[in-house]
Amino acid sequence: MSDTVVLAPELENLLAAARQAAMHSYSPYSGFQVGSALKLEGGETVTGTNVENISFGLTICAERAALVRAVSEFGPAIRVAAIAVANLNDAASPPCGACRQMLAEFTAPAAPVVFPAGDVTRVVPFCELLPLAFDVKLK
Ligand SMILES: [Zn+2]
Repeated sequence: MSDTVVLAPELENLLAAARQAAMHSYSPYSGFQVGSALKLEGGETVTGTNVENISFGLTICAERAALVRAVSEFGPAIRVAAIAVANLNDAASPPCGACRQMLAEFTAPAAPVVFPAGDVTRVVPFCELLPLAFDVKLK
């Protein structure tokens, strides 16, 4: 993993879109306001935010919300070219394991993932976040 201080303008814009999405968070139980923005290979940007539920187990993360929205809007052939995650709590927020597995189905291995990690912003290729993702076609 590599720490970055200056992001490429496209990733900076994607991170700004994720921050904007975090403002729509429904998080009355944790107060953790998260947003995600996906850049699709077709150039579209799709955002999502976390939506909590009183049953907790039904809560959906911002990344999966964005992915479900992207498939709903653009169809099952989408490919994710870049991913940004942001939160309004000044906390680290790399994608959780469930989101990594969901994103793996649609994301290019080299797609950059940008997320806050303490005092730094990290950019990591997707394949480094989830090596050996579950797949029935593993060789
Ligand atoms: Zn998640």
